[in-house]
Amino acid sequence: MATSSKVRVRFAPSPTGFLHIGGARTALFNWLYARHTGGSFVLRIEDTDPSRNTPQALEKLLEGLEWLGLDWDEGPRRDGSSVGDYGPYFQSQRYQLYQECLERLLSGGHAYEENGAIKFRMPRQPMIVEDRVCGRIFFEPQPDPDFVIRRQDGSFVFHLVNVVDDLLMDISHVIRGEDHLSNTPKHLALFAALGATPPVYAHLPLILNEDGSKMSKRDVGASLEYYIEEGYLPEALRNYLCLLGWSLGENREIFPIEEAIARFDLTRIHRANARLDRKKLYWMNGEYMRASSVEKLLPHASQWLEKRKLIGPQTDRHYLASVVSLIKDKVKTGNELCDWAIPFFVEDFPFDETAVKTILTPTGLEMLRRLLPELQRVGDFSSQALEAHFRSLATQWGTKLAALVHPVRVAVTGRSVGPSLFPMLEVLGRDRVTQRIRRALEQLSPA
Ligand code: GLU
Repeated sequence: MATSSKVRVRFAPSPTGFLHIGGARTALFNWLYARHTGGSFVLRIEDTDPSRNTPQALEKLLEGLEWLGLDWDEGPRRDGSSVGDYGPYFQSQRYQLYQECLERLLSGGHAYEENGAIKFRMPRQPMIVEDRVCGRIFFEPQPDPDFVIRRQDGSFVFHLVNVVDDLLMDISHVIRGEDHLSNTPKHLALFAALGATPPVYAHLPLILNEDGSKMSKRDVGASLEYYIEEGYLPEALRNYLCLLGWSLGENREIFPIEEAIARFDLTRIHRANARLDRKKLYWMNGEYMRASSVEKLLPHASQWLEKRKLIGPQTDRHYLASVVSLIKDKVKTGNELCDWAIPFFVEDFPFDETAVKTILTPTGLEMLRRLLPELQRVGDFSSQALEAHFRSLATQWGTKLAALVHPVRVAVTGRSVGPSLFPMLEVLGRDRVTQRIRRALEQLSPA
C-alpha cells in the first residue's frame, strides 16, 4: 500500500543472461520518473526460476544498468551487499513473506486448495484498469478465471510474488512493458484481496523491429551487449532509448539526459508501438562521437582500442589523443574508430588490394620515390608546412595534388580512405611516414 506520497518505482527483471533492449528502456523510464519526481528507483531481482538465474546473469544485468548510467537507490550492489530498507531485494530470499500473504488470502477466503496447488479466487465481474498510458481498459470476466498462485511443489507464481513485492516495497507506480497489461486485472484483484491500494500502472509500448515484426531475443541488436560490443556510447544509446515511446514534444531528438529528466512525464508516453531503428541509433551515435570532446571520448576510445589489442599501457597518451581527435568525426562507432586507428598503431598493416592496384601503379610508385627525399628534407613536419610543400611540388612537377596525396595515403595506411592526409602525416610523424613509404616501395615495386 502506498503509505507515503513519495514516488517509489522499480525495475524488476528476471536475470536471464543479458539485459534486453526492452528491459533497458523499461529501466530507463522508471529511472527518469524517479529522478524527475525526486523519488526512489528500486532494483528488484525476480529470480524465482533457479535454473535460469546464475550469478553471471545477475552480474551482466547490474553491469548493463551501470553502463547506461542508471543508478538505483535500493537493491543489490555489485559487491554482493544490498542498499535500502525494503529488502531482501531478491525474490528467492522472500519466501516467508509470500507464505504470510498466502495465508492471509487463504484465511480471507480469497484462495483455496485444489490438487495440492493453491488458487486465487478471481472476482466474477468485469475489471477496469486505469492505466496512465493506455487509458481506461475494461476486461470482461473469463469463464474460468481462478489462477494458481502456489504450485504443488510449493513454489510461488509470478502474479503473487510480483504483487506482494510491490505492496511490501511500497511501490507507488508500476512502469513496465505492455506485455504485462493483460496481467494487471489479476494484480489489481490480488491487491484488493490483500486489502491494499494498488500502485498507479503505466504500461510502455512494445518495442518492435524496424520492419514491425516482434523482437525476439535472437534478433541482432536485441541485447544491450551488442551495443557495448560495437562501441556505442552509453549517452547516445540512453538518448535513443528515451525516444522509444517518449519524446521531448518538439522536433528535437538529441538532448542531454538532464533535459529528459526535467521534462519526463508519464502522461506523454506514446501509446503506439515503438520501432527500433538501428540506422537512426547508428547515426545518433556518430553525432555523439562528433560532439564529444577528445578528453571525454578518450576513456571510451582507450577501452575499445585495448580490447582490440591496438594499444597497451605503454601507448603514449598524447599520441592516442591526437589519433582520436583525427578520426572521431569520421566514424560512428567504437569498432569503426578502431578500424580507422589500425595504421596508427600497427606497423605491418596489410595493403588493400584494390587500393594498390588502382593507386600504387608504376606512376604512383614513381611519385613516392620522388617524394621520399622531399619528406626527409622538409623542415617542419606540420600539417600546414606539409600541405604547402606538396602543393609547390605538384606545381613544379606539373601534376595534380591528388597524384601525390593518394599514393602517400595508401603507402602510410594501406587504404584509399581515411582521415585528412596532412594532419594524419603530422600525427604519424616523419619517421613512421618515411619508413612506411620505403616499405611500400620495397614490397610493391615490380621486380
Ligand atoms: N519480472 C517481470 C519481467 O521481467 C517483471 C514485470 C513487472 O515489471 O511487473 O517482465
